[in-house]
Amino acid sequence: MASVTPATEGLRELVGLSREELLAEMTAMGAEAFRVRQLWHWIYNRGVTDIGAMTTLSKTFRAALAERCGVGRPAVTRALASVDGTRKWLLRFADGQEVECVHIPEEDRGTLCISSQVGCTLTCSFCHTGTQRLVRNLTAAEIVGQVMLARDALGEWPSPQDDRQLTNIVLMGMGEPLYNYDNVAQALRIVMDHEGLSLSRRKITLSTSGIVPMIRRCGAELGVNLAISLHAVTDELRDVLVPINRKYPLAELLDACRTYPGASNARRITFEYVMLKGVNDSPAEARELVRLLAGIPAKVNLIPFNPWPSAPYERSNAAAIKEFSDIVNAAGYSSPVRTPRGEDIMAACGQLKSASVRHRRSALGAEQAPDAP
Ligand code: SAH
Ligand code: SF4
Repeated sequence: MASVTPATEGLRELVGLSREELLAEMTAMGAEAFRVRQLWHWIYNRGVTDIGAMTTLSKTFRAALAERCGVGRPAVTRALASVDGTRKWLLRFADGQEVECVHIPEEDRGTLCISSQVGCTLTCSFCHTGTQRLVRNLTAAEIVGQVMLARDALGEWPSPQDDRQLTNIVLMGMGEPLYNYDNVAQALRIVMDHEGLSLSRRKITLSTSGIVPMIRRCGAELGVNLAISLHAVTDELRDVLVPINRKYPLAELLDACRTYPGASNARRITFEYVMLKGVNDSPAEARELVRLLAGIPAKVNLIPFNPWPSAPYERSNAAAIKEFSDIVNAAGYSSPVRTPRGEDIMAACGQLKSASVRHRRSALGAEQAPDAP
């Protein structure tokens, strides 16, 4: 894989700073405001991690900057490549916490799935991330760092205009992005900046379990595509599968979708629906789903359940998924079934990290594991 520098130890990390924060840093050093633009270009367009290589800056300024600041990357603790081209990185941050990040190449695009938190405070009953005890928000630097790392690994510097391998970003890794809104927003603004990584808001999709009060804000301030983890068509079942539903029930959630700024037939809201055998996969539920979505510019993404050890559910069988999809399709909604990708490298949400934690636990003995109960 391409060169990876460890995170900057003891230095002010420049990756993840907003332009305003970068300006404050320059001012504190007594440097001119135009340095911000130059630095932005080196960091986000050229992907340079060595301040010494930023040749448009004077040698003395580079030396002064390198004494105070660094341009780092998360450390890669494992890098895996699937036979289908999917790549997965397990990243470790300065405090030892780990998250995953996955790149999925397709014919017409390449999607990077990034994480917004270590673990998740929510406890969706089918999701492995929800069973992980340790939770903290990722910083803006750690969120942008995932994109920088992927760009390094894909060899995509300087930021290409065309034929990119990393064209889309989905916030569908670990964590609930709308519970870490400020850092996610700062990170996405950096990712969308035209003079840097320059990914359009139309190529970014934020997936939420339905934090209703934050949905409108996300649309108004960031304008990214929205995906809703719906998974059930009654409050009774959704209360079990996605317990945040007790706080923000279906009617409120769908209302927030109806008025989501920027949604249109050209930019539809994605409704994710995990297919759980005998739980939410009947034809009657497919018809009810169609009824609920009336009036919302929607598409449906059917996700065959990804099993994990001792999960209380099974994946629906192919015939049930097909019948469900046909009903939704016949009502005029596109409803592709997400093909499992990278199964040989456990690319599904939460699994690689869990395997690594288990491995270390058994190596240490459960009582000595730092995060054992
Ligand atoms: N917390 C956010 C984003 C991360 S989860 C959210 O819930 O939307 C990304 C998607 O993967 C969500 O739709 C989630 O419900 C789904 N998912 C989680 N665990 C899964 C599993 N075991 N099998 C299939 N999909 C799963
Ligand atoms: Fe958290 Fe999303 Fe998993 Fe629910 S599905 S526990 S919100 S990561």
